[in-house]
Amino acid sequence: MNIARIITNLSLDKSFDYSIPSNLVNRISIGSMVKVPFGKSSRKGFVIDLPQKSDYPDLKEIDSIIGNKPMISSPLVELGKWMADYYCCTKEQAIIALLPAAVRGRLIKEKTRKIVRVKNEAEIPIILQSLNKKASKQADVLRFLLKNKEYPLSKLVKEHKISYPAIRTMEAKNYILISDETQARDPFANDRIIPTSPLNLNTEQSNAFNKVVHSINSEKKDVILLFGVTGSGKTEIYLQGIAECLKLNLESIVLVPEIALTPQTTERFRSRFGDQVSVLHSHLSAGERFDEWNKINNGQVKIVVGARSALFAPFRNLGLIIVDEEHETSYKQGNIPRYHARDVAVMRGKLENITVILGTATPSVESFYNAKKGKYNLLTLSQRIENQQLPEMNIVDLTVENAEKERYQIFSRRLITEIRDALENGEQVMLFLNRRGYATQLQCLKCDFVAECSDCTMNFTYHKSRSQLICHLCGSVTKAPEKCPGCGDKRIRFSGLGTEKIEASIKGKFPYARSLRMDSDTMTKKDSYRQALTSFRAGEIDILIGTQMIAKGLHFPNVTVVGIIFADQSLNLTDFRAGERAFQLLVQVAGRSGRGDLPGRVIVQTYTPCHPILMSAIDQDYELFFEKELESRMQLKLPPIEHLLLLSFKGENDDEVRTYATYCFELLKSKIPKHINCSPVLPSPILKKRGLYTYQILMCTEKIMVLSKYIKQFFYSIKSPKKITVTIDVDPYSLL
Ligand code: ADP
Ligand code: ZN
Repeated sequence: MNIARIITNLSLDKSFDYSIPSNLVNRISIGSMVKVPFGKSSRKGFVIDLPQKSDYPDLKEIDSIIGNKPMISSPLVELGKWMADYYCCTKEQAIIALLPAAVRGRLIKEKTRKIVRVKNEAEIPIILQSLNKKASKQADVLRFLLKNKEYPLSKLVKEHKISYPAIRTMEAKNYILISDETQARDPFANDRIIPTSPLNLNTEQSNAFNKVVHSINSEKKDVILLFGVTGSGKTEIYLQGIAECLKLNLESIVLVPEIALTPQTTERFRSRFGDQVSVLHSHLSAGERFDEWNKINNGQVKIVVGARSALFAPFRNLGLIIVDEEHETSYKQGNIPRYHARDVAVMRGKLENITVILGTATPSVESFYNAKKGKYNLLTLSQRIENQQLPEMNIVDLTVENAEKERYQIFSRRLITEIRDALENGEQVMLFLNRRGYATQLQCLKCDFVAECSDCTMNFTYHKSRSQLICHLCGSVTKAPEKCPGCGDKRIRFSGLGTEKIEASIKGKFPYARSLRMDSDTMTKKDSYRQALTSFRAGEIDILIGTQMIAKGLHFPNVTVVGIIFADQSLNLTDFRAGERAFQLLVQVAGRSGRGDLPGRVIVQTYTPCHPILMSAIDQDYELFFEKELESRMQLKLPPIEHLLLLSFKGENDDEVRTYATYCFELLKSKIPKHINCSPVLPSPILKKRGLYTYQILMCTEKIMVLSKYIKQFFYSIKSPKKITVTIDVDPYSLL
């Protein structure tokens, strides 16, 4: 008998066996999407195995198959199963994550989207006059179409809140035409690209490239950690590695952090490989995403550049997976399955026998540790291209600076001088502070009242331009008070710097300079990020002020001065990775300057000039940083020495949550293997978030798979109270 093992949504990690009817035998394989009878109804599911025999007699038959081709390749199904075990989620949760939502639901059919346009432009003004007042929606739509020429029907209906019958009436009256769109949507339709050819590699690049080629061509594939300082030409190696794969008719995946999916990055791939590249970013519509996925699945493109989930691109002849900026924490997914794209990339590489390149200027402690242990192959690029100098790093001690002045100043004299010089020479400046808003605290000087969010354990941030207080955790907004809400006194103090304040001060100090603030408050429109970068690049802006948005992977030849306004900010966080992040951030930000012909200078303002992390960052000495960091992680058995698993219990009632967490803790403690270290129940460092209280249990072990399996079984076997949510995070990146 032919048997298929199937998971459906809501099958709670279980799989079910079905028999394959003879007419489907040749069409069903692992990864096929099928419809099966389930209880009294039917359900969609995926074939995850084709076992020889089943433990169950009397199997029901599969109803039908969906799509002509398996939706998921068989190695990807394996990857999904591994993710379910490793990250403690159900198989269906992991398998579903392999497909974009639009594909999963088959919401949109290929190439049959309806497009609306006006029938006869010249007649519209007359029609508009004749439409009676009640038909104002129809008039709106006509005016809109006149401007936009053509528009997808579904979007039109949604955005203009007009009904389908009304649209059909307009069609019947010959105002508009509705037709099937015949072309696949092309998100790049309006971009012009200038083709590039491979550059002659320098010696270091050649060495690295040869190793990449060797791995691609050999039986045993490597995971390569490409450790190259900013501007050392890593991307050129990626490009030539991909070209090598194309020669062999192999496909490539390039993962970049979402924030780095700028036109600047994607253009480099599209300029070299043109239409063979598909770019997946979060601004694609569901339809565009669906089309791109189909192009990949049908073999129309050979290269995918995208954020996290692009890792699951349905290629069947992969030759190379590249994870750029592998240290970026945004590779960790925040909801189920809580996977880390870098680690899953390495696993996909292993399952499909593919070369994986992890590229970075500041390796994660985990990856560097793996390289040191020989698990990864370490390749180093120590020089910037054409020997451009790394920028000169200067520390300004704010304690000394402020002692000599009457009152606290945001900008040190050194930084002011550097900015002035740069502006006078027509050069550009970037100022970095990883905190948005105007002031991070509002305090009453009389009664000590501090404005806090009522739903979170968190101070409100003051946003001056909107005169609002905003909670950066839950987003709740209130009007900024003019006097203390506690005692009514007018002496309220705003303290703690944010980017908005920096911008205001810069405008005060350099009124003639053109400055722009880039943070999630100002970059609210779909295109604002792109536009801002384009005008900065074009020299229309002199000073760019921003949060981490401006720190990553950008290349601006005319930037000579980078100011880090308050370096201590990132050092003082409670997270055990705070030091690592601070180091990465400082090096990355510094890497923004001096990327052209002009030498760069970085001014780091701090109260702790002798902080070891700062010292190693100033010298751009990664090895020194790594040794120190590893030493402290060893003492505490923190990653990469052992793996962490974080259990979080959340609910509205503080006592209930704590009690339930304690109950689980006692149960776990009595059963758990000895080699697993388990913390007691602890309140989360931010106890209350969005009105929910969080308690945690942190576990660590060398054998994470054993622990994961155990925890997964444990939480599937007990029924948690409805009012409490339990989340399991394996290799967590946030302990808050
Ligand atoms: P990274 O990715 O390591 O930060 P990039 O790949 O962006 O570095 O390289 C920095 C700059 O040097 C880019 O403008 C790139 O085009 C250029 N470049 C890279 N390799 C070479 C080379 N071999 N010869 C000349 N220019 C190069
Ligand atoms: Zn809040």
